[in-house]
Order: sequence, then C-alpha cells, then structure tokens
Amino acid sequence: MRPDALLTPTLAGLFSKPGGFHIDPTRPVKRALVTHGHSDHARAGHGAVLATAETLKIMAARYGDGFAGTTQVATLGETMTFGDARVTFHPAGHVLGSAQIAVEANGLRIVVSGDYKRRADPTCRPFEVVPCDVFITEATFGLPVFRHPEPEAEIAKLMGSLAQFSERAHLVGAYSLGKAQRVIRMLRDAGYDRTIYLHGAMEKLCRLYEEEGVALGPLAPATVATGRKGDFAGAVVVCPPSEIAERWARRFPNPVACFASGWMRIRQRAKAAGVELPLILSDHGDWDELTQTIADTGASEVWVTHGREEALVRWCALNGIAARPLHVVGYEEDEGE
Ligand SMILES: [Zn+2]
Repeated sequence: MRPDALLTPTLAGLFSKPGGFHIDPTRPVKRALVTHGHSDHARAGHGAVLATAETLKIMAARYGDGFAGTTQVATLGETMTFGDARVTFHPAGHVLGSAQIAVEANGLRIVVSGDYKRRADPTCRPFEVVPCDVFITEATFGLPVFRHPEPEAEIAKLMGSLAQFSERAHLVGAYSLGKAQRVIRMLRDAGYDRTIYLHGAMEKLCRLYEEEGVALGPLAPATVATGRKGDFAGAVVVCPPSEIAERWARRFPNPVACFASGWMRIRQRAKAAGVELPLILSDHGDWDELTQTIADTGASEVWVTHGREEALVRWCALNGIAARPLHVVGYEEDEGE
C-alpha cells in the first residue's frame, strides 16, 4: 500500500480513506481523531471525536459539552480498528493529554505526531518513540538556529529576577493551555511556594490540570479590585502573552514583563513584544529534537505539516530520507509554542 492511500493530505487535513476518518481536521468532518487540545488541532463541530480522556475534557472546557456529536476515549497504547485501518494513540510530551496517532494497514505504519517535544515536562507524559515507515512531523522550530536551553535554567532566571526585584510584580505571559501550567509547576519544583496569581483566562485550564493530578500549589485570581496594588509586590502573575504590554498590566506595581516561549530565542521578537525578561521555554521540539526524533523512528519517509518545512525536508534529503512538505493551512504557530 502506498502511504498516501492510507493517509491523504486534503484541504480539511489528513484523511484516511480505508479508516474513514480525518486527523486534526481544520474544518468540520464526520469523524475526527484529535492529537491534543490546542485550538488549531482540536476544533468544535465534528460529528464524532476520538481523543484521549484529557483532550476530550480540554475540548469540553473550551467549547462546552456539545463540542461534537459523539465522543470516544482513546486509551494510550490500545489499538482500535476503524474500517480497514488500525489506530493506536501514544504520548507526545507536548501538553496534558497530547498524543501521537499511529495508523496502520497492510503492514504499513504511519505516525502522525501532532505537536511534540522531547524535554522533560512535569505536567504531561513523556514522548514515546514509535517506530514507523512514515513519520509526519511539524517544524515550528525547524531551523538549526533554534536550540532551546535547558528549561530549568530559564525558570532559574525567573527565580533570580524575583529575588532581585522583590518590589516588582512579575507578569509571566504564557499560553493558557500547557505553558501556563508548566511554568507554575516548574516554579513549585524550584521551591517557589507563594501564591501565584492568575489572569481570568487561565483559571479554567489550571483547575482542569489540578483535577487531572497536576498539583499547582496555592493559586488566586489576579484581581486588584479586592486588594491593593502593593499586594502584588514581588508576586508572580500568569497571564496570556497578549496582556503583558497592555493596559491590564498597568494595575500591577512596576511590572517586569516576562514571556515564556520558544520564540524568545529571537531577541527582536522579545523586544517587539515589550518583554523585559524573555524565558526560552518551548512545548515544541527544537532543531536537535526534531532531527533526533526522525532518526529515532527509523522512518524511511517524512512528511512535514507546517512551520520551517524547507530546512527539515533538506536535512532529510541529506540523510537519505524521502521527505515532502504538506503546507497544511490552518495550523497556527501562535498557540502553545
Ligand atoms: Zn499544540
């Protein structure tokens, strides 16, 4: 069987004709298999959705209970049959509940990795290497210039700044699904035990993480109305990245604008966003993680969904691996990186 007879790139995303399903479709379809809860991969309005229990809960939290006609839980490592295809979910190490999806038929195995990283993350299961014939990968940070530092070193920078500027509030811009909870959990692991304040947009998903067993320590809403501005001196406030340079931020005492993102590797980007303390903390693999993962899977063919496709395709060619860019339209780089 040819790989694109098992999984075909279409306008709505990857479609399996033998299995009768799409994976992470960007428009409403009959049956969707969803890798993780970020909104560009997990959309509302499908007839049926198969995803991990955590991803289904995240989708319900974001879209409401009626986000799909029907839902079905995918258990990691358990193989299910759809039509003439077999499907197995494996952990992707990206955010809570994130999975890679292996699709098999006639001895051919294709792995759709969704988004993934290889670094340690105390808020989700680690990435698992799944040997396959075709590996489908993203390439958000698919350039050799992207080499993420150790996550602990970035959290240490934040701890250092908190010690140095104990009268200033530290506003940490972090995506509401995944990054926010990872920053909070890592601060706890580094010994930070004070109350951490949350922008309203963060509360629901932080609560969901806690329900799923990720302890985040003392949290409180970042509402100045109930307290005085001075109450936030030396405090950590976690908010959406778009808020750190906005009016909302001015309610806090002399705030230090921080942003936890892989893009903080690019100094101009930090400067343009008004970031004083860039934290290079990514939920996507860097160049070394992407290329190492391709090698680890043993795949003889690689498809690149989105991001810096050309450089990764070229790396594959130089290493004797057939590769093609898919140019999937609708996968953003602005959520969760
Ligand atoms: Zn994602």
